[in-house]
Amino acid sequence: MTTVATDTLVALGRRTISMNYAPAPVVLERGQGARVWDTEGREYIDLLAGIAVSVVGHAHPRLVAALQDQVSKLLHVSNGFFTEPQVLLMEALTRLSFASRVYFGNSGAEANEAAIKLARRYQRVVRGTPRFEVISFVHGFHGRTYGALSATAQPKYHAGFEPMVPGFVPATFGDLGSVEARIGPHTAAILVEPVQGEGGVVPAPDGFLAGLRELCDRHGILLIFDEVQTGCGRTGRWFGYEHAGVAPDIMTLAKGIAGGVPLGVMLATEEVSAGFTRGSHASTFGGNPLATRAGLEVIRIVEEDGLVARGAELGERLRSGLSGLAGRFPIAAVRGLGAMTGAELAASPEQTAQVIAAARERGLLLNLAGSTVLRFVPPLVAADVDVDSGLERLEGALGSVFG
Ligand SMILES: *Cc1c(COP(=O)(O)O)cnc(C)c1O
Repeated sequence: MTTVATDTLVALGRRTISMNYAPAPVVLERGQGARVWDTEGREYIDLLAGIAVSVVGHAHPRLVAALQDQVSKLLHVSNGFFTEPQVLLMEALTRLSFASRVYFGNSGAEANEAAIKLARRYQRVVRGTPRFEVISFVHGFHGRTYGALSATAQPKYHAGFEPMVPGFVPATFGDLGSVEARIGPHTAAILVEPVQGEGGVVPAPDGFLAGLRELCDRHGILLIFDEVQTGCGRTGRWFGYEHAGVAPDIMTLAKGIAGGVPLGVMLATEEVSAGFTRGSHASTFGGNPLATRAGLEVIRIVEEDGLVARGAELGERLRSGLSGLAGRFPIAAVRGLGAMTGAELAASPEQTAQVIAAARERGLLLNLAGSTVLRFVPPLVAADVDVDSGLERLEGALGSVFG
């Protein structure tokens, strides 16, 4: 129970929230696993997980206990000191990935800022080249700060915020020729999502990431994978790059990595990391004991409970259910990788938004990617029944819009 009536909270929220947001008229109060409840006691199946964040679900007892313990001991210290959760999380991330150095920030955008800054610094300071340009991809998404936004080659996110930061060059996702055509003497790095998430859940075509690796090696360019959405077991591997059989030089993580506590991570090889000389970059909150304790516990839970494989199973179940609905409703394509799924509707953006609202009214949370893609990024702990009941509720929602 809240102390203030739901209608009052919604009205007050609508009057005071920054106008870039337009929340549904729902006040969420608590969660358990893949379910959440609002202040009116209505239950929702959460196949969105706070946009690929709550990988171990809501109120996971181990995460709750770890955070309570950490809060009671030490909440924050500066990066002038080590803490145990910070060091153990860096150890875990370097053990699980290609990388040997770890930088912590507080969000995906910040992790990408760090990656872009490191790429430029490495080219300039370590290699002594004049390279500063970053090639990124149309329909990609890298965050809303100016550097990350400039790398996000989607005009709708730039409108009215220009001028963008110079030095970002858009290429076509999946088209190696378009990348090669944009490589020049100033190219410092290529920044790419292994599966474009916000752009509509579009996995890189076979061979594309390996082809980028080859181009980078040939031209002395760094390869940066933005795994803010695809990392932490989301795609059925710990990191999306593992599907491609090649590793990047720099990788960014955020969303799922600390199960809902804000944490961004930028990982790099030993050599590239040398671009960040002492004092060249920093974050006050980045890597604080609370956030890193959360990250460490999430990794332990995912490893010990086999959640990477579990997530892949969930995704298969969901995609086969969605394909089953495609015969009766205008679902043009069902795609994804592991526990990351998109269902593209052959419908208008308005109808797609109506499906999402109708699903919510029936107790199912999902959201929009691209303009007509329903996105499902469930907690990796979801039960089969969560997926099956979610599909039933979706069927009702599709029927109400297209029936
Ligand atoms: C969500 C997302 C970001 C931005 O993360 P924030 O935490 O919102 O700054 C960056 N890159 C990708 C691939 C994302 O999905």
